[in-house]
Amino acid sequence: MNMYTQDLDRNEANYAPQTPLTFLDHAALVYPHKTAVIHGEQSYDYAEMRARVRRFASALKARGVSKGDTVSVMAPNVPAMLEAHYAVPMLGAVLNALNYRLDAPTIAFILNHAQSKVLITDTEFAPVIREALPHVDHPIQVIDIVDALGPGGEQLGEKDFEAFLEEGDPEFTDWSLPDDEWDSLALNYTSGTTGNPKGVVYHHRGAFVNALGNALVFGLNARSVYLWTLPMFHCNGWTYTWGVTAVGGTHVCLRNVDPALIFPMLKEHRVTHMCGAPIVLNMLIHAPEGVKTSFDQTVETATGGAAPPSAVITAMERMGFKVTHLYGLTETYGPATYCAWQEDWDALELDERSQYMARQGVIYPTMTDSMVADPETMQPVPSDGETIGELMVRGNTVMKGYLKNPEASADAFAGGWFHTGDLGVRHPDGYVEIKDRSKDIIISGGENISSLEVEDVLYKHPDVMEAAVVARPDDKWGETPCAFVTLKPDAGDVSDTSVMDFCKKNMARFKVPKTVVFGPLPKTQTGKIQKFVLRERAQSLD
Ligand code: ADP
Repeated sequence: MNMYTQDLDRNEANYAPQTPLTFLDHAALVYPHKTAVIHGEQSYDYAEMRARVRRFASALKARGVSKGDTVSVMAPNVPAMLEAHYAVPMLGAVLNALNYRLDAPTIAFILNHAQSKVLITDTEFAPVIREALPHVDHPIQVIDIVDALGPGGEQLGEKDFEAFLEEGDPEFTDWSLPDDEWDSLALNYTSGTTGNPKGVVYHHRGAFVNALGNALVFGLNARSVYLWTLPMFHCNGWTYTWGVTAVGGTHVCLRNVDPALIFPMLKEHRVTHMCGAPIVLNMLIHAPEGVKTSFDQTVETATGGAAPPSAVITAMERMGFKVTHLYGLTETYGPATYCAWQEDWDALELDERSQYMARQGVIYPTMTDSMVADPETMQPVPSDGETIGELMVRGNTVMKGYLKNPEASADAFAGGWFHTGDLGVRHPDGYVEIKDRSKDIIISGGENISSLEVEDVLYKHPDVMEAAVVARPDDKWGETPCAFVTLKPDAGDVSDTSVMDFCKKNMARFKVPKTVVFGPLPKTQTGKIQKFVLRERAQSLD
């Protein structure tokens, strides 16, 4: 006992559960007439957004949704999806944002695993939902989003979303903040490239903390105009669904990631911030010249979800974007580390700066700790930029666990750290650099080869648009690097040997791909290159 432990207890005045739900009320109080949401010709302010969300929550409640229920949403970045991030958890229910590129069996698996009570679905995805619904093993209410900007499509439920909102009360008060900040708020399924997808559960505290961490790291403020180039279903838009509201910024919705839409929107709405996987940045870089309309402001662009090749960072900066590199996983509410800028990098040439920026960096100020360690001994590797270990993190922005999957949760949390499954090194300055996912590392003649490092060089080849490197079994070396390459549309004749020669000039001999295959690359639903498909292809090459 010391004097600070006496008579200084928690009470309702000095302690409240942390939740992103308070951000909307705050924005509506402080900026009631500021534009909250833009969607095509439609826009509305924070007072209106709050009213819509209250209608939404009360209409859900009238349908029997209550604490511990799941509400699934299958929609692109439209207002209803954003509003669901507030309306669903207001009832203590859990939001399950579905990846709209999944197939019907996977959607059915998720709706059953999550026991979703309500499904709100954009008519664009009616064909896949129609196929999935007969396989749902419990009653589910379906509401359709009929969006004027969408392609139309069949309505599967008995009501459309706007009519559903009409059922609700804009002054709805019969809801509460969570009793406990540990209460579940969101359920996001991992892509499930190995077996069934796992349901990652978030709590209110983690979403609150990561939303603020993101606002801080990315420099959001009340003047920010955030363009939704990142799917909201992906880790709840890396928690920017809450983060942008927290600062009273403007959400600009966008159904499709299309450079022909994005460039004019940057100018028209004076967009200040956007996020996207490196593949999205690459689409902007390689958009036809006629599409690349100019804009006056600097657009802050956060990229992550896969390693951004330094050449991509360089090309974006040349076009007037300022790139911030983030790293994270579904299990860490999206971004968990960022490549924090150091003042002395200002003096570097762009290419060199981009090399620094391509590192995954340091933990968010809102994360507690990280280490790069041997997963067997849990001993941290030296900060020498060379010794490879697994990146592990701990803190309040790590998931609660996987839904109904205690074994997988126990594995992920072994030894009191969250195991990311990513292999990397720690540099002498403390910055982490990811070299590969554990299963992607190439071991050739006993030497580790980072596929990301080889890819980074390939992206510098003047004729290469995209590249992915995987292991190919080899009798002599065990494995050798095999490069799959997509050339730029205007590339001339490029041979595999010329690509190898380019690599030889830019990397150690043993890392140079022994095989180069040209053609389009298979991608996941979130635009990541599917290395497992390429590995299979590499195995069956003659
Ligand atoms: P999935 O597992 O379905 O691909 P996640 O979004 O959870 O979906 O993927 C997280 C993984 O993406 C990380 O474990 C890592 O391998 C990769 N990743 C994310 N951000 C970066 C980054 N900035 N650099 C390198 N890899 C990244």
